[in-house]
Amino acid sequence: MTVPTRLFVDGAWREPASAARVSLINPATEEKFVEVASAEVSDVNAAVESAQRAWESGWRDLAPGKRSEILFNVARALRENIERIAELETLNIGKPIADARDEAALGARVFEFYAGAVTMFGGQTIPVARGGFDFTMRQPMGVVACIVPWNFPFPIACWKSAPALAAGNCVVLKPASLSPLTALALAEVAHGAGLPSGVLQVLPGSGSAIGEALVTHPLIRKVSFTGSTSVGQRIMELASRDIKRVSLELGGKSPNIVFADSDWHRAAETSPMSVFANTGQDCCARSRMFVERPVFDRFVDAFIAATKKLIVGDPAKPETQIGPMVSASQRATVEEYLSDARGRRSKFACGGGRLSGKGYYLQPTVLLDVDTADRCWHEEIFGPVVCLAPFDDEAQMLREVNASPYGLSGSLWTNDLRRALRVARAVESGVLSVNSHSSVHVEAPFGGFKRSGLGRDLGMTAMEGYTELKNVYIAES
Ligand code: NAD
Repeated sequence: MTVPTRLFVDGAWREPASAARVSLINPATEEKFVEVASAEVSDVNAAVESAQRAWESGWRDLAPGKRSEILFNVARALRENIERIAELETLNIGKPIADARDEAALGARVFEFYAGAVTMFGGQTIPVARGGFDFTMRQPMGVVACIVPWNFPFPIACWKSAPALAAGNCVVLKPASLSPLTALALAEVAHGAGLPSGVLQVLPGSGSAIGEALVTHPLIRKVSFTGSTSVGQRIMELASRDIKRVSLELGGKSPNIVFADSDWHRAAETSPMSVFANTGQDCCARSRMFVERPVFDRFVDAFIAATKKLIVGDPAKPETQIGPMVSASQRATVEEYLSDARGRRSKFACGGGRLSGKGYYLQPTVLLDVDTADRCWHEEIFGPVVCLAPFDDEAQMLREVNASPYGLSGSLWTNDLRRALRVARAVESGVLSVNSHSSVHVEAPFGGFKRSGLGRDLGMTAMEGYTELKNVYIAES
C-alpha cells in the first residue's frame, strides 16, 4: 500500500517549504511507520492562493450539472478505493478495520448526497409588498478552510469538503497532525476522478502554526472546524477580526437515558458500543448513563456483561470492535481521569487498566457511584470510560442532563410516546435518538447546542452554511 507523505496543492504532490516532517506511529504497535511533510505558513499562502485562482477561473461559474457530474465521479472513485482508505486509517489511528471500511463508505455516500444536492439547491421567490419580482439566490463564498480532528479523519473530511465544493467553493483542508493520511488520499482520489486542480488542497501540519495562518488568511471566507471546544473558541476569536463565517463542531458529554418502561435489555446490550466504539474517542460518546431506579441494578449487570464481551485488540483483525487509543498522550490523559476517579468514592465495575503488551490499549471502563461534581462525570474524557447513575425523578434527571456545558448528542430509551416527545424536547442537544444510538445521518443536520458548537454539518443545512444568501429585487416598472 502506498502511503501519501507530501502536501497536495494545485492538483499535485508538493514538498513543503521547510524540511519539517512529522513521524507517524502505529498505535497498535507503537512503531513509527512513516514520516509526513509538515506544512508551514508559506505553504498555506500558496494553497489558499491556488484555491482562489481555481475558484475564479472556473469552479465558481461551472454549470451545476457539470459540478454534480464531477462530484458523482469522485464518489464513485472513493467507493473503488474503500479498502485502501480503510487500511490507511487503521494503520494511522488504530481504528478497527471493519469501522474504517464503514467510514470510508460513509465518505463516498456523503459525496453522492451532495453531488445530487447540487441541482436541488436553490432560493425562494418572495411576494414583496411593493410588487415587482423578488428572489433569493445562494452564492458560493470563495475559499473555505476545513479543519478536522483525528478521531473520524476521513468521514469528517468528506462531510466538510463535499458540501463546500457542491455549493461552488474551493477548499483548503487541514487534517490533524496525527491523522493526515486519508485526507491526502481523498485529494488524490478526487483529483484522479476529475476534480480540477486547486479546487481541493490538503495541508498536513501543526494546528497552532498553520491552522491559525489558515484561519487568519485574508482570502479565507469561511472556517469550518471540528475539534475541541478550546480550539474552537480560539478560532472564533481569530475569525471575529474579519467577521469570517465559522461553523464549529466541538466537544460533548452526551447522555444516555433509560426509562424502566423501555426495552432496557436491548439498551443494556447495545449501549456499551455507544460509548466504547472508537475507543471512546467520539464527540457523541454516550458517556453519562441515567437509568431509572427500578431497573438500575439489573441494567448495570447486563451492561457490564455486554461490555466484557467486547473484542478489544488488533485493529487490523476484522472481528475487533475496540482498537488502541490514538496516541500515548491521549491514553495518558484518560488515565489521569481514571486516577482522579480512584481517589474519590467511584467504583470501578470493570476495566480501568491497560492491556498487556504493545499498543496504546485501555480496557473499556465502567464507573459507578460517581459524584456529579467529579471530573469524570462532567468533563469530556475522550476515552473508553462511562459513568452510570440511577434516577428517580424525570424532572430532576433532566436538570442534571442539562447541567452539562455541552449539548451535542444523546439517546433516550422509552416505549411511552408522550414521554419520548417530552424528554426529546427538553434535552438540550443538537441531536437526539430515541431507542437507538445513531447520531449521524448524511441527510440530516448534525451539530451541537451550547459549548458543543455553532452551525451544522450534513444535510442541506450544511450546504446552506457554505453560501451567502443574496436577495435580488427587480422593479416591474
Ligand atoms: P483539536 O481541537 O486538538 O484539533 C482539531 C483540529 O484543529 C486539528 O486539525 C488541529 O491540528 C487543529 N488545530 C489545533 N489548534 C489549532 C489552532 N490554534 N488554530 C487552528 N487549528 C488548530 O481536537 P482533536 O484532539 O483533534 O479532536 C478531539 C476533539 O474534537 C474532541 O473535543 C471532540 O469532541 C471533538 N470532535 C467534535 C466533533 C463534532 O462533530 N462535534 C467530531 C469529532 C471530534
